[in-house]
Amino acid sequence: MYTNIFDTHAHYDDEAFDDDRESLILSLKDRGVVGIVSCGCDIASTVANQNLSHSFDDFYFAAGFHPENLEDFSVEDLEKLEPFFADEKCVAVGEIGLDYHWMNSTKEKQRELFVAQIELAKAKGLPVIVHDREAHGDTLDILKATKPSGVLHCFSGSVEMAREVIKLGMFLGFNGVATFKNARKIPEVIKEIPLDRIVLETDCPYLAPEPHRGKRNDSSFIPFIAQRIGEILGISAQEVLDVTSKNARALYNLK
Ligand SMILES: [Zn+2]
Repeated sequence: MYTNIFDTHAHYDDEAFDDDRESLILSLKDRGVVGIVSCGCDIASTVANQNLSHSFDDFYFAAGFHPENLEDFSVEDLEKLEPFFADEKCVAVGEIGLDYHWMNSTKEKQRELFVAQIELAKAKGLPVIVHDREAHGDTLDILKATKPSGVLHCFSGSVEMAREVIKLGMFLGFNGVATFKNARKIPEVIKEIPLDRIVLETDCPYLAPEPHRGKRNDSSFIPFIAQRIGEILGISAQEVLDVTSKNARALYNLK
C-alpha cells in the first residue's frame, strides 16, 4: 500500500466520471492519495472543478483557458477568471499553453492567450500549468521570455529542453506515458533531471499507465508511474512518491 500520492493534473469534471465521481474521489484517500489538482479548460470546467474542490478535502483546482478551447474567447474574457482567484482552493492558472496538433485556433491567437494568462498568473502570484503539444520551440521561447513559476505538464521534450525548463525554476510533470514502451525520451530525461524538479500526474481520465493503458485513468494509478521512475533511478516507488508529493506542495504553495 502506497502513500503520498499527489496528482498534480487531473480532469475530474470529465463526463467519464459521471457515474461514480463522488464515490471514486472519496475512495482515493484510503488508497494513499494525499492531494489532487483538477484543471479547468474553460469557464464551465473551471466552475465544475471549483465545486468539486469544495466537496472534498485535499482537492484543489486550477482556472484557465486550454489552447484547444480558444475559439470563442479573446484576451478580454480573461476577466471572467477573476472570481476564481478569490477562492483559496484555486492554486494555479491552467491549463494553458500551445497545441499545434489540434489547431482549433491560430498559432497567433494561442500565443496571445498563453502569454496573457501567464502575465495574469504572475500578477496573482500563482503558478501556471502548461500544456505543450507539438509546440516545444514556441513554448520554451514564451516561458523564457515571461519566466512564470509552474509546471510543464505531460513533458514530452528532449533532455536539452528539460534542462532549459528547470533552469527557469519550473517543474516537469510525468504521467502514464512514462510507462509506455514507445516513450523512449522520457527515461533519458528522468535520469538527467534531479528528482526534486519532477511531479506526477494522471491527466485523467486519459493516459492510464501500463498495465491499465487504454482504460479510464484515476489518481490511484499514479504508483505505476512511480514504479517506472523508481526502476529508472534505482530507488523505491515509495521514495519517488515521497519526493514528488513534496515537490507538488512546493509547486502549488501548499503546506
Ligand atoms: Zn490536462
